[in-house]
Amino acid sequence: MTAPTDRLFLPDAYLSTVEGKVVGIDGEGGILLDRTNFYATSGGQPGDTGFLERADGSQISITGTVYGDAAKTIVRHLPDEDAPVPVIGETLVLHIDWDRRYRLMRMHTACHLLSVVCPYPITGAAVGENESRVDLDMSEVPDKKSVTLELMQLVEGNHPIFTRTITEDELAANPGLVKSKNVRPPAGAGTIRLVCIGDEASVDSQPCGGTHVSETAEVGAIHIGKIEKKGRENRRFRIRFGALDRG
Ligand SMILES: [Zn+2]
Repeated sequence: MTAPTDRLFLPDAYLSTVEGKVVGIDGEGGILLDRTNFYATSGGQPGDTGFLERADGSQISITGTVYGDAAKTIVRHLPDEDAPVPVIGETLVLHIDWDRRYRLMRMHTACHLLSVVCPYPITGAAVGENESRVDLDMSEVPDKKSVTLELMQLVEGNHPIFTRTITEDELAANPGLVKSKNVRPPAGAGTIRLVCIGDEASVDSQPCGGTHVSETAEVGAIHIGKIEKKGRENRRFRIRFGALDRG
């Protein structure tokens, strides 16, 4: 049985480069490492791309990162078809495509801010490099300009973002710790990772395993590009980078 991968992106989302050791190659060519800074696809955030650098300087291009097990403990690094296959025990320097990841971190954080501005149950979300989609279970159709203004107030307020680990028992005893009513923490995990925004989590806290920026100003200029009706009680928000066009 393969040991769980030490997922360094959880404590440090800003770790763009780190060393790791090859512990296995799975049946489909996925590279398993003792530890990794490559985020694995989960919770609507796509996995990282980048390359693994060998001692001789050659590169193993990584086109995607996913989990290999339902419990999400084993991270599989998916190499390009033509990439050389590393050997077990080999030490590699792991380079994520930082520009892409940082955009995803900014976008992912923006999705949290949207759930603060529009506190409705989330029925779906997809974080993208240029645009993110968040589906909310709500019947009214808000004005995209006013939602954008409220989002930018949170961005410009430069609230700190940090994580806190709590036990299921603590959560059961303090249901108020999870401010968002839209995300249910996974049961049975023992501990829950809360992503908190604002001093003392005054803006928001919700369970999440993704990567986020460390203060809201880093999100930068964003706007709601579109709000679509998807059924009677579902609204699809599209968050885009850049300021909202005037007019
Ligand atoms: Zn998150």
